[in-house]
Amino acid sequence: MFALAFAAYLLLTREEVETQRSNQLEQDMLWQKQAIEQQLRTDTDALSGLAATLYSSLDYTVPLFQARALSLTQNSPEVVGLTIQDAQGHIVWRAAQAWQTLPFKGEPGWGDITEQDRSPLLQYAVTTPDRQHFVVATLALDRLLQQQVPWWIAQRYQVALIDARQNMIAAKSHRQLDPSGVFKSVALDMPPVGLSLRAEVYYGNERRTFADYLPWLLFALAGAILATTRLLQNHMRQHADAVLQLRSETALREAMENSLVTGMRAMDMTGRVIYVNRAFCDMVGFDEAELLGHQPNMPYWPPEELDRCQAASDAILAGRLDPNGFAVRFMRKSGERFDVRLYASKLINGEGRQIGWMASLYDITEIRRERQALQASHERFVTVLNGLDAAVAVSDAQSGELLMSNHQFDRAFGLPDWRGRCCVVPFVPRRAEPPVDAEWFDGYREHWYQIKSRQSVWVDGSAVWLEIATDITALKTAAARERRQNETLQQTARLISMGEMASSLAHELNQPLGAIASYASGCRNLLAAPQPNLPQLSQAIDKMGEQAKRAGQIIRGIREFVQRRAPHRKRCHIDALLDTVLGLLGHEITRRGVQVSFREDSQLPSLYADPVMLEQVIFNLIKNALEAMEATPPTQRMLNIDLARDGNLLRVVIADRGAGIAPEQLEQLFKPFFTTKDAGMGMGLNICRSIIEHHQGRLWVEANHGGGSRFIFTVPFNEDSDAIEP
Ligand code: ADP
Repeated sequence: MFALAFAAYLLLTREEVETQRSNQLEQDMLWQKQAIEQQLRTDTDALSGLAATLYSSLDYTVPLFQARALSLTQNSPEVVGLTIQDAQGHIVWRAAQAWQTLPFKGEPGWGDITEQDRSPLLQYAVTTPDRQHFVVATLALDRLLQQQVPWWIAQRYQVALIDARQNMIAAKSHRQLDPSGVFKSVALDMPPVGLSLRAEVYYGNERRTFADYLPWLLFALAGAILATTRLLQNHMRQHADAVLQLRSETALREAMENSLVTGMRAMDMTGRVIYVNRAFCDMVGFDEAELLGHQPNMPYWPPEELDRCQAASDAILAGRLDPNGFAVRFMRKSGERFDVRLYASKLINGEGRQIGWMASLYDITEIRRERQALQASHERFVTVLNGLDAAVAVSDAQSGELLMSNHQFDRAFGLPDWRGRCCVVPFVPRRAEPPVDAEWFDGYREHWYQIKSRQSVWVDGSAVWLEIATDITALKTAAARERRQNETLQQTARLISMGEMASSLAHELNQPLGAIASYASGCRNLLAAPQPNLPQLSQAIDKMGEQAKRAGQIIRGIREFVQRRAPHRKRCHIDALLDTVLGLLGHEITRRGVQVSFREDSQLPSLYADPVMLEQVIFNLIKNALEAMEATPPTQRMLNIDLARDGNLLRVVIADRGAGIAPEQLEQLFKPFFTTKDAGMGMGLNICRSIIEHHQGRLWVEANHGGGSRFIFTVPFNEDSDAIEP
């Protein structure tokens, strides 16, 4: 719009200026025309006057004429020639000052324009009073223009004389013409020659006024406005961008603040609330509007905590900021109390000036509750741990340092105050492959412990050993006692067995003793002869010795069998054991008329066992079998002994043709004191089973096909058992 208005203005003013200029030109031209005509008139008048002076005589020396002629040539420089000529054109007189002569055409008045020496010339002739002569003046038109066109006209226009054919005859000054081509021409009132005066505007000849500069000024102004507008536009755009950025940043900040679970509150230097975030409002249950502008006391200070809250507030305002924050109790609008931890810091504005205090608040009620629950749980854990009979310890897997232990542990190993010190668990049954389950004897305190330990991960992620030591001293003592009792029982059982077999044994002993007695009486008879048969005597004495040895063997066997002793394993062979037992029971078997049959796998390996114990087992089983066949017809009294290899096991079967066993009694037989015999003790099978189990074997009974029962036991051969601890 400004440009349009400006263009219109320019157009209008230009037109006006043009009009003004044109008017001015017209005026100037009219004035110029008059000036030139005036001069020409003056010249013609002067020439007429000059001619009139010659009225009385034609004496050119008349002083008046001379003076006038001189005055004419001097006052009118355009008059370049002044002559008096006759009708034939002869020059009668010539003014000395004027140098130009032109041939006179013989007619008074204005002549034609001629050119001489590139100077346009014009003649004017006046007849003298005698009508015989003419006073002829030659005017140089260019000089006329030089004289008559004043500087201020010449500066503005090119002023020229134009002939009837529009040829320029003379002009004053030549400068660059205005491209607008504005000109004006007026005809001079000199009819004979048809001259006209023409003026054309020079380029930039106008005198510059403020108005001339106005368009440029306006142009500059418009330019400046455009540039300013452009700058403004840029600025506005930047501003708009900045506003947009600020808005998005504000929105982001607001979103962040609103998403915070930390309550935030800002106060000015006087303690007046100037900002709260949503979390803070949620925490205390008051609206933002209710809090802003509030000064202590705050509505969320519980009445009973006013002093503490006030103290915390005063400390913040005084700049005494605790880096650990202030723990205070606040109150929700509902009246509910909650604990917060409050951290304060200076609130600095954009200019770096402190304008107040910023506080962030964390609701620690839940944390506190959790901590208490954790504490309680820890206490429960410790109580349970300390209530255990077992000693429990956790130690670092790398350094062995004790990390935790219960009271039982501390008491058992005399470590009342190990905490904070590097102290290694007294028992270290660690092996490469956990878990460890071993027994350990504390020689210093003479206690047995069952140690269970395994690798675990501690609360801080490090590898630890968890070790549990259970005091098994009492168990061990009880086991030892039981073992001793067992031994006593076994011995008792053996004594009883021997007692039961006393008659058989007496008979057995009787044989060698009887033989010795008869050999002794034989010897006496031999010695009574006058010539004793010495070789015979020596033979009898040898036999006697043999029988005594046999009796000694029987007695030693009985003693060994009944002797009370601790288990003692060694290499032995089942054949040898069976022989010993059959040796002891041989007489009994014969007495009862029982037929014994054997079946044995070839090349049975040796056993690693306590031979006396196994002998006792075989002894018991055979004795029971013999007793079971009491009611069996003598022809059917069969005892089958079967020795076989079953993998790594020796399998011994002792089968009889006795009464057999009722199925419901199959397992009861092995219970202590179960007996069906009047004089029985009911311990035999029980002891047998514990002996076989002691040798990692099994003992059981099953019915024998065709009547009777089969007692079967297995014992591992343990071919590589040399390595095994006894
Ligand atoms: P006891 O011989 O002192 O009775 P045992 O423990 O040796 O004690 O035997 C328990 C019972 O098992 C016997 O009383 C008997 O009834 C039964 N018994 C043992 N061996 C046999 C057998 N070979 N046949 C039938 N019954 C048997």
